[in-house]
Amino acid sequence: MATKNIALSQLNNGSTYNEIFNRDIIGKVKLFQASYPQKKIYMMGWGDTSQPLPATVVRALIDGATKLGNLNTYTGYEDINGNPELKKSVCDKYYQEKIGVEFDSSEIFISDGAQSSLSNLQELFGLDNSVALQNPTYPAFIEGNSLAGRSQFIELHCHEQNNFVPQTPQEKVDLIYLCFPNNPTGAVATKEQLKGFVDYARSHQAVIIFDAVYSWFVNTPNIPRSIYEIEGAKECAIEINSFSKIASFTGLRLGWSVVPHSLTIKNTTFGELNQMWSIRNSIKFWGASNLAQQGGIAVLSAQGQKECQQNINYYLTNAHLLRQGLSNQGFNCFGGTDNPFIWLKAPGKMTSWQFFDNLLQEMGIVGIPGCLFGESGEGYLRLSALASQKEIAEAVQNRS
Ligand code: PLP
Repeated sequence: MATKNIALSQLNNGSTYNEIFNRDIIGKVKLFQASYPQKKIYMMGWGDTSQPLPATVVRALIDGATKLGNLNTYTGYEDINGNPELKKSVCDKYYQEKIGVEFDSSEIFISDGAQSSLSNLQELFGLDNSVALQNPTYPAFIEGNSLAGRSQFIELHCHEQNNFVPQTPQEKVDLIYLCFPNNPTGAVATKEQLKGFVDYARSHQAVIIFDAVYSWFVNTPNIPRSIYEIEGAKECAIEINSFSKIASFTGLRLGWSVVPHSLTIKNTTFGELNQMWSIRNSIKFWGASNLAQQGGIAVLSAQGQKECQQNINYYLTNAHLLRQGLSNQGFNCFGGTDNPFIWLKAPGKMTSWQFFDNLLQEMGIVGIPGCLFGESGEGYLRLSALASQKEIAEAVQNRS
């Protein structure tokens, strides 16, 4: 007799982030639109990109597709852990040139985007491992671990008093999820703050899973883009990155993870966790799309990076416009300098949902209530600057 997966069925109660978004947020927007059909609505909730693929990437995709359609150049399955040229580009053109850290290609795992890696990498660790998470947090960190059956969560609270960068855990934890530049708060962490986490992880034999998908948005000097800028991180951290927001790959799907050979925990030898992740991929994941990987190689080329930088600058200008426009109207805004997210404080004692309704009615702006990211997000709203510039400029002037 088959029985259901209890952990999955417990998540099937309408409480996941995506379900709340589709039901409650989209539901409220549809209702508002039906009541006020003449009012313009500015969607700044969902963190999807609005700019098209860079021209260099488009050419690489056309070229790649043409080769796939030709008998002499057709290729099928690739190396499960990623196209060797792309992995080498990640090592040379990202980690060595931008971050100043060396990796071997065998430490890079190409994925179909950060979402699957960040919810699957926990499979490397025992189900009895305790998990520390920022609160507010990107929801997939907690949902991926809940789905695996973990229930021991320790919250690292992020609030104005600590500039939305939490303290290291007060108790012993095994896995620590960190995301900087942060979604949803828009905060960045300094080297000293990240060093505190690396020191904690090394002294407790804990592992940091570092989500760096917004690393390319960092402008401020001395703000780390990678956990590996911190000495000792290769011994205690996995890093996740993505082509989604820098190169508009949200639909194409491509990302990478780094599982260093020198990452070891109790009862593991040098390279063992790296090898385990490779075996896991050979069972559950047969590699990212070969065509998307051709696009990824083009992103990391000199011309590709130049074009991606134009997209990033565009989104950062959006964030500036949004933050300035809302600040001029008396709102208290955080983030948006090294990150495409603005974390907007609700006026007075308004809750996140009251603020959501208020902003929709007054300005036609749709954000995500901060409480959906955890109780420390109550009283805030997240806005994404990945929307179109014209819409953002119009939205901040549009107060009824
Ligand atoms: N991590 C964070 C913090 C994100 O904000 C997102 C997407 O919004 C992802 C991961 C997922 O990215 P991808 O499109 O590469 O799966």
